[in-house]
Amino acid sequence: MKVDIFKEMEDHDVEQIVFNYDKATGLKSIIAINDTTIGPALGGCRMWDYESEEEALMDAIRLSVGMTYKCSVAGTNFGGGKTVIMGDPKKDKSETLFRALGRFVQMLNGRYYTGTDVGTTGQDFVYASQESDYLVGLPEAYGGSGDTAIPTAYGVYMGIKAAAKSAFGDDTLKGLTVAVQGVGKVGTFVVEHLLKEDAKIIVCDVVEENLVALTDKYPQVKVVDPEAIYEQECDIFTPCALGAILNDETISKLKCKVIAGSANNQLAEPRHGKLLHEKGILYAPDFVINSGGLIQVADELEMQDNNHDRVMAKTRTIYDILLNIFNLSKEKDIPTYEAANRLAEERIETIAQIKRKYVRD
Ligand code: NAD
Repeated sequence: MKVDIFKEMEDHDVEQIVFNYDKATGLKSIIAINDTTIGPALGGCRMWDYESEEEALMDAIRLSVGMTYKCSVAGTNFGGGKTVIMGDPKKDKSETLFRALGRFVQMLNGRYYTGTDVGTTGQDFVYASQESDYLVGLPEAYGGSGDTAIPTAYGVYMGIKAAAKSAFGDDTLKGLTVAVQGVGKVGTFVVEHLLKEDAKIIVCDVVEENLVALTDKYPQVKVVDPEAIYEQECDIFTPCALGAILNDETISKLKCKVIAGSANNQLAEPRHGKLLHEKGILYAPDFVINSGGLIQVADELEMQDNNHDRVMAKTRTIYDILLNIFNLSKEKDIPTYEAANRLAEERIETIAQIKRKYVRD
């Protein structure tokens, strides 16, 4: 795969790409800064055994663009960025590798903040934090704001309510059947919120212990095989496991009216968002409904302290944000992911306009 770097930057509106190499530790990483109109870029650091430099570069670009939209629509004052480290997270990690990364992040002097993502952990950034002031989501013992699964699950719960309001005319979930795919950190908390409202719950997982932990506590939860989750008779499907699960094969099986869950990149391709729209299935765009964790780290940076109640209050706004998206989708007859993108772009453009007025620093 040959990549024309400036062409990709132009096509994706990428402001800056930084290639970082450190001989002593073998660090090879790429930081993509997509857009800083509304504030410094924010986005996690992924470590992955990429097959090629081109694949790593394109992943950094694609993910940084996604962060711009996610940060904007969630109402944070951050732009989008992302780091990728080329390497196997099981074999290639060391204290010094992350310290080397920290120094490169520091060189950007606050234009970009990073933290954990696929393949990296809080401990990795404890190392990096010895070299950089621009890190987020450290473990609580190191001043971080703690488990992001808690606000993420709360945001998903509020998003499910907004979707129920839009699809069924009422946001009460009592008596509705919700099929949850994956009961890991986020999925389990989502189920607990839903049970408090007397929703009927169906779950699946590929890890038996996760199912047992849940059903021991809540015997009323029904368990089905992972492959059977798509064809359950239910009102709401809540994906909390994997990406790309909304594809040609699965969409034809779905019997739900609403899809609202935490998993990242649920649509295999954008056209699947169009297909759901045509089929009258209301899809809560993943990057909006799962933004509770982002809201927490953005709050940690903006407010310079950790306040759980404030984070949960901000996360509650996902309800109204999604209602706006659903209304725009209906009004313009466009898929919900497109409506979400429009709102994100509009906010960036409007903030750019207000920043044109001179204010003395
Ligand atoms: P997790 O790893 O704790 O949970 C995922 C669960 O899905 C696990 O229990 C796993 O066994 C299960 N699973 C994997 N493959 C499956 C399959 N084929 N069928 C059914 N279950 C399967 O992760 P998490 O933190 O709960 O995150 C869940 C999803 O939400 C992920 O896509 C993640 O990227 C996304 N997300 C998480 C956060 C967060 O704050 N944790 C924030 C935004 C988005």
